[in-house]
Amino acid sequence: MSRPIIDIDECTGCGICVDACTHDVLDIVQDKAIVINEDACAACGDCMEECPMAAIVEIEEE
Ligand code: SF4
Ligand code: SF4
Repeated sequence: MSRPIIDIDECTGCGICVDACTHDVLDIVQDKAIVINEDACAACGDCMEECPMAAIVEIEEE
């Protein structure tokens, strides 16, 4: 199982990742992207590909 991790120091709050995610995993809170529904993440990688700041990575978990 993998989940996205957002580097809030790099995140500009642009919202592109929120729009890119078709599983409603991400949201913008106080101008930063956060993971609001981790279990729904399909590990598709779309948010990472779309982020202009490369602020998202996926980590693997057991
Ligand atoms: S696309 Fe990247 S910079 Fe934009 S809100 Fe998402 S994590 Fe932040
Ligand atoms: S990897 Fe896919 S499903 Fe998971 S948060 Fe990113 S866009 Fe959404």
